[in-house]
Amino acid sequence: MQKLSLHNTLSRKKEEFKPIIDGEVGLYTCGPTVYNFAHLGNLRTYLFEDFLKRSLFFAGYKVKHVMNITDVGHLVGDGDMGEDKLEKRSKIEKKSAWEIADFYLEAFKLDLSHLNIIFPSNWYKATETISEQIKLIEELELKGYAYRISDGIYFDTSKFKDYTKLSHQKIEDLQEGARVEKNQEKRNPTDFALWKFSPENEKRQMEWESPWGLGFPGWHIECSAMSLKGLGKQLDIHCGGVDHVNIHHTNEIAQSEAATGEKFFNYWLHGAFLIVSGGKKMAKSKDNFLTLKNALIDKNLHSLAFRLACLQAHYRKPLEYSEDMLQASNNALLAIYDKVNFLGREVAEVDNNYLQEFKSLVFDDLNLPQALAVFHKLLKDESVKKAVKLATALEMDKVLGLNLKSVIENEEDIEIPDEIEKLAKARQLSREQKDFKEADLIREEIEAKGYIIEESQQGFVIKKKR
Ligand code: AMP
Ligand code: ZN
Repeated sequence: MQKLSLHNTLSRKKEEFKPIIDGEVGLYTCGPTVYNFAHLGNLRTYLFEDFLKRSLFFAGYKVKHVMNITDVGHLVGDGDMGEDKLEKRSKIEKKSAWEIADFYLEAFKLDLSHLNIIFPSNWYKATETISEQIKLIEELELKGYAYRISDGIYFDTSKFKDYTKLSHQKIEDLQEGARVEKNQEKRNPTDFALWKFSPENEKRQMEWESPWGLGFPGWHIECSAMSLKGLGKQLDIHCGGVDHVNIHHTNEIAQSEAATGEKFFNYWLHGAFLIVSGGKKMAKSKDNFLTLKNALIDKNLHSLAFRLACLQAHYRKPLEYSEDMLQASNNALLAIYDKVNFLGREVAEVDNNYLQEFKSLVFDDLNLPQALAVFHKLLKDESVKKAVKLATALEMDKVLGLNLKSVIENEEDIEIPDEIEKLAKARQLSREQKDFKEADLIREEIEAKGYIIEESQQGFVIKKKR
């Protein structure tokens, strides 16, 4: 196991990482609310978490990674009032909330595959863990942290000592932010819903019986229930975007520690925003909403160009999106692939000097921009033999994730799996039947599985994707 330092939001310092169980890491990352496509900002956060996970692997750890999929309870105002994001979307798209969740979850998985992000070991939907969430709320009720008002069961934040330990804010400032919502019945502005009652005048699509009546869980409780379910006592690292510090993660800590009486996660890491010009955060509710498909794939840019763009900024610094920036990253990625292709196919021992320099940067709170500079320096260095250079670059790519292996795989040597062959044939059939929508979907599925299909008059060829 190699030493690794990480910036902990709890202490606001870089700390040496020490896992609860030797050699293993329990990692929890807050997942998407599946009512729409993920935008590039969301994806920047998932990429940061992937870099972290790969760095942990690189340091020799086994990583158990749990992610939640929010398919109920996240309300339009991000607080405790307003419509459920999924139920709202279901009316717009005229599909059930369950279908909305399935559709956008599949789209999310496809995005992760395009970006070469390693899937979590476990992901749970909020709707699959209702009983665990109810149990946790019961525990809170038993310990005197929960109270009932007309629209639900709430957590009393004044009863939890150290409510601001993650945000380092003054309680008055947090309360000021929370006051916008104006729920007069709450005891304190920062109190939040654990369980919401179904409205009397409206039948919800997603609702459950509970000890408090028919309703659905509040947004924050799922992450507490799922981390405890998936990781048990191995609560090492919890991540998310920086917007989660003041409310979502602060509330997760309060309700979990109140319920269990034990520390909820030792390290909290937060990724900075992807911003658009003028410094604004890219957000689903704004018109600056770009997806992997509309910003890259439809423009014939390689998805991994966005990965490379994210490697070029430190995860705790904002990254500004522009079309030029993506184009430049795409060119840089293709140049890397050319250089790697030119190295031949023979792989020798790694160059330890380069690798050590690279590692020391990665293990210093993921200094990936500088680590990437070392990778570029290696590719340029003519004093390093090709086969050594290739071996070292491939080793570094375990963290970078630019899929360099695919560059050197010999096209003829690749065995195309049956599953891909079948998909390719199904696509042919759809094209013959002029069902181009279906054909497009199949092509996307093939690509998500790491292959590309090229068609000609003679038929099609399948290649491994770079
Ligand atoms: P959501 O689907 O809205 O719950 O967000 C999923 C993840 O994306 C969370 O970890 C957010 O903190 C993160 N996120 C949202 N907007 C941005 C942004 N503009 N840049 C980086 N991360 C973001
Ligand atoms: Zn969460």
